[in-house]
Order: sequence, then structure tokens, then C-alpha cells
Amino acid sequence: MTTTARVFQNHIGGKWQSAQSGQTFPNNNPATGELIGHFPLSGKVEADAAVAAARSAFDTWRLVPAPKRGEILFRVGELLTQHKEELARTMTQEMGKVLKETRGDVQEGIDMAYYMGGEGRRLFGYSVPVELPNKSGFAMRDPIGVVACITPWNFPIAIPTWKMFPALVAGNTVVIKPASDTPLSALRLVEILYEAGLPEGVVNIVFGPGGTVGEALLQHPNVAVVSFTGSTESGRHVAIEAAKSLKRVSLEMGGKNAVIVMDDADIDLAVEGILWSAYGTTGQRCTACSRVIVHSAVRKELLKRLLPRIEQLRLGNGLDETVDVGPVINAAQLEKIHSYTEIGKAEGATLVTGGSIADEGELAKGHFYRPTLFTDVRPEMRLAQEEIFGPTLSLIEVGSFEEAIAVNNDSKFGLSSAIYTQDINRQFPFGGNRGTGNGHREAGIAGLDVFTEWKVVYTDYSGKLQKAQID
Ligand code: NAP
Repeated sequence: MTTTARVFQNHIGGKWQSAQSGQTFPNNNPATGELIGHFPLSGKVEADAAVAAARSAFDTWRLVPAPKRGEILFRVGELLTQHKEELARTMTQEMGKVLKETRGDVQEGIDMAYYMGGEGRRLFGYSVPVELPNKSGFAMRDPIGVVACITPWNFPIAIPTWKMFPALVAGNTVVIKPASDTPLSALRLVEILYEAGLPEGVVNIVFGPGGTVGEALLQHPNVAVVSFTGSTESGRHVAIEAAKSLKRVSLEMGGKNAVIVMDDADIDLAVEGILWSAYGTTGQRCTACSRVIVHSAVRKELLKRLLPRIEQLRLGNGLDETVDVGPVINAAQLEKIHSYTEIGKAEGATLVTGGSIADEGELAKGHFYRPTLFTDVRPEMRLAQEEIFGPTLSLIEVGSFEEAIAVNNDSKFGLSSAIYTQDINRQFPFGGNRGTGNGHREAGIAGLDVFTEWKVVYTDYSGKLQKAQID
């Protein structure tokens, strides 16, 4: 942890630069309150400059052969591996999650770098049978242009890599606006991209509020694609604004995920799964379990084994390897989480453990909330319907598999679900839709569809004009 707070800058067109206004905003450690550094409080001017730089770099980057683009990403993978521990510690300091989780976050970035590095040699197209003689056709992926990546704070390196690396290997250029709570991890990632040999202007990073920098990107005519991850509320706004200029938009948003525990489940295994899923990352994962849907036959046993494990979870600074649960991201989120405890109580759910801010000793310096469990939760309660994004778990009792599935699906979100059962016939697939996403996929091969346009090229070697679509 630095004691003298550094002042960091945007990276635009290959140059590190402050906001034109000279204003900055602080980045604080959510576990200790310590100041990590100051970041430029940018606005439209800086967003516009970044788009201009990215647009200009697109003309040359798109012509760099895809295998060469991939080689740079491969070097990024090597540098991320080399710096993994330093990046994980930086991330724990600014975001709060424990080291095991931040190491996992960086590892996601490493995996993505090698994966998309490989895609540089696999951006295959296909040949198209043509109905005219002496003419051939093939379809290929074309880059689209400037991609604006707007990212949240809960996966400060992994999520930017899920967006930037496929965009880059496909030949697009990028402007990234990271979450204001985790600017340093994103900045380190951009530094590593340039250390790996990325040409200037291909990735630009602008710090500042979503309401100004983000908004300017949504409205900019030269931004072709917006790749957004964040809350459903912000995502809806992004979709509406981007639609005005017909931008392509990929949205990854909130969740209200469930773990179903059936009467034949291995209860100890279910307890492990629930603990990790509900309280890991302090419940601040889009895929975090916030509802346990339990068959009445095993409810008592599950509760008996789960409760002591929740109460044993150790809160504290994520840099301490013995800590299980770190702080929540900021004061506003702490307040929001606590408001759901009050809502749950008012709705008639039973608060079994937690339900309060943890402020004893060193914890008082940060934003800590006790791992919380409610029972007697009914599916229609706000506690069971709304995304809390904190360490609050609701137990809902059901009498059958059919009822469990109905409760699981009674949600405006559609991200992930899991089931504990010995019966293979009761297992089912899961995915992201409804209020969670707009049909695009991220981080896998399907992610390339967000960042490329299919183009068909015909070659007519007949020596005469062959009129298509003329009978
Ligand atoms: P958020 O408040 O929606 O912010 C996400 C990003 O959008 C931030 O960079 C934010 O900037 C920016 N933003 C806010 N208002 C904007 C606007 N008007 N125009 C453009 N950009 C704007 O979400 P968060 O609190 O950071 O993240 C938590 C949410 O992300 C949860 O709902 C979680 O479920 C979701 N999430 C989903 C996935 C998934 O894959 N489905 C993965 C991780 C997280 P500032 O930081 O400056 O406000």
C-alpha cells in the first residue's frame, strides 16, 4: 500500500494525460479506508479525444494480420502471469475481495489472453457456394471499429479482458471506461498491453463517472460497439442511448441466482457450494447465490449444518490469508445491503444470523457487513426478487421438485442456477437472459460475434458481367 497517494492519468493516443479540468477523484481501500491514489475526473472532452485516437488507430490496427495481433495477446498472457501476485494484491487493496479470489480474477485474464491469442490463428471464415459459374465466394469476419468497454468493479481485470481481448484480436480498437471504484487494476492492465507491444492508440483508458465519460461514449457517433457489464438499471439506459445511433450493444447485467437442494442431496456438499457461492466475493458476484430453494424434507438438516459454517466465516482485510470474507465495495453499497435486512424483516422473513454492519476493531475503518441469513422467505418477497449484491442469503422452502423449478424461474433475471440432487434426471442447464443480458455471450468463442461483422466476398473470374438476382 502506498502511503503517499500517487496521481494517475488517462492513456489516450499513446500519451498519459490528466483531465483537462485538472480535477481528480480518490480511490480508497474499502477494507482500511486508506487512499490508494487520485484518478482524473474526466468528462466528454477526454472521452471524445479517446474515441478520436481509437478511430485513427483502427485504420492501421485492422490491417495487422490477425496472427500478429494474437501474438501480442500471447505476450500479454505472459506478462500477466509474471505480474500475477502484484496485480492480485493491487486488486485486493482497491476492491476488497480476498487474495484467493483476486488471484483467480487475474488468472481469468491470463486464460483469456492465451485463448484469444490463439484465436488470431483461428479467425476462420467459410466458403460460400455461388449459383453463377466462374465465381467464388467466401465469408470472413471483419472488425467493426471503435469498441467502448464499460466495466464494473467486481471483476476489475477479468471483465475488461473478456471484452478487450476478443475485440482486439478481431482488429477493433478500444476505449475502456472502468468502474470508478477500481481504476488502478484496469490501468495496470492497459500498461501491460502496451508493454506487450500494442501500437499506440489501439487501447485508450479514460477514468471518470459513468454519467459523464460513459454517457459521452454512448453518444459518440464513432463508437461502433458498446460492451457493457453492470447493473440492469444502467444496462437498460445504455441500450436506450446506444440505440439512438444504432450501435451494437452487448449487455451483461444483474442476477438473482438460486441453489436448489433436493431431498436426496449430499447436504455437506450443498453446504460447501452455498457458502462459497453466497458469501465468496462478499456476495458481490453477478452469479452469487442469493436464494437457497430447499426441499422441506432436508430444510432442518441443511440449516443445522449451514448456520455454524456461516457464523465461522472470518471478516477482514483480504490481504490477510486467513480471512474468508472481505469488505463490500463502498459506503453506498453497505447502506443498500443493510436496507435489504430491514426490508426482509418488515416483509416477515426470519433473520437467523448477521443483519448488521461489522465495526469492531479494525473493521470500523472499512465497509464490512456480517454474513446474513434469512429463513421463512417467500418467493414473492423483495428479498427473494431483487438483486442485493451483498452477503445476504434467503432460504425458501418448497415441497417438490416442480415447485423448486417454479420458484427458481420466478425471477426477472436469468443468469445461473445449480441443483444438488443424486437424480441426474433433475439436473438442468443454465444461462443468461431476461434482465441479465440481451442475448450476447462473453468470454468464449461466441464473444467474437459481438466484435465482428460477417462479410461475404465474391470473385467473378468469368470475364463478363453476370447479373445476380436477375432471372
Ligand atoms: P453499475 O453501477 O451499473 O456500473 C457499471 C459501469 O457502468 C461502471 O463503469 C459505471 O461507471 C458505468 N455507468 C454508470 N452509469 C452509466 C451511464 N449513465 N452511462 C454509461 N456508463 C455508466 O454496476 P456496478 O455497481 O459497477 O456493478 C455491479 C453490477 O454488475 C451488478 O448488478 C452485477 O450483477 C453486475 N455484473 C454482471 C455480470 C455479468 O456477467 N452478467 C458480471 C459482473 C457484474 P461508474 O463506476 O463511474 O459509476
